[in-house]
Amino acid sequence: MLMLEQMLMVAWAAMLGLVVGSGINALVWRLHEGTSWVHGRSHCSHCGHMLAAKDLVPVLSWVILGGKCRYCHRPITDGPAIELATGVSFGLSMWVLYPGLLTNIVMVALWFVLMTLLLALAAYDWRWMLLPDKLMIPLVVLAGVATAYGAIVLQDWHITGGALAAAVLAGGVFWIMAAASKGRAMGGGDIKLAFAMGLMLGLQSTAVAMFIAFNVAAIAGVVLIVTKRRGRRDHIPFGPYLVLGTIIAYLYGRDIVAAYLRLGGIG
Ligand SMILES: [Zn+2]
Repeated sequence: MLMLEQMLMVAWAAMLGLVVGSGINALVWRLHEGTSWVHGRSHCSHCGHMLAAKDLVPVLSWVILGGKCRYCHRPITDGPAIELATGVSFGLSMWVLYPGLLTNIVMVALWFVLMTLLLALAAYDWRWMLLPDKLMIPLVVLAGVATAYGAIVLQDWHITGGALAAAVLAGGVFWIMAAASKGRAMGGGDIKLAFAMGLMLGLQSTAVAMFIAFNVAAIAGVVLIVTKRRGRRDHIPFGPYLVLGTIIAYLYGRDIVAAYLRLGGIG
């Protein structure tokens, strides 16, 4: 049974996620335009009109405006989708991690920051087909910090070894795919993201994340082509699917592997 305290924490985390998601929207526009952190705001992705503060209340502005841009009246989906994805990711993370929250507060806090960077990368890649180093380097460094924390503070050599092996393996496999496709199927950003995934997830959960990413991307690719929203030759950004796989695998990777082994009669 879910305790009231846990429910309140989940609701709080989800609301925090909506606000952070709104910040992610502003951040990726700023990075894209190269404007400073202080200046620059979110824009409508159709007409490029800069959005006022009243247009930026997470989800609520979108509902009040009927899902349309105040200025060009075309539907806005990207921004609210990112806010919602961040809200759900934060709420879900609190739901899963809450029981161990106080015993592992540093790792949980690190995960929330890592998730923010992952979702910002997904948002950027979705719009502009690029995983920028300004987001990727902090992700790789922080994933390394989490791994080092596991080794030094928690003395968990098993997990640390698995994380390092997974990072080299996943990064290496993506490097080979990028080289074999001459950068068409995978880019340098995907290689770095795969490396960071290994550090965050370890061997088994990295495999789960990759399985989810490749399958959802394949299904989404077919849907986009069938609905004629993208042509057969169009490049489809892979980052958002890797991020989706990473978040699910971080929270449910062990459960998924255990269920899979039970199915096979091994576990
Ligand atoms: Zn507009």
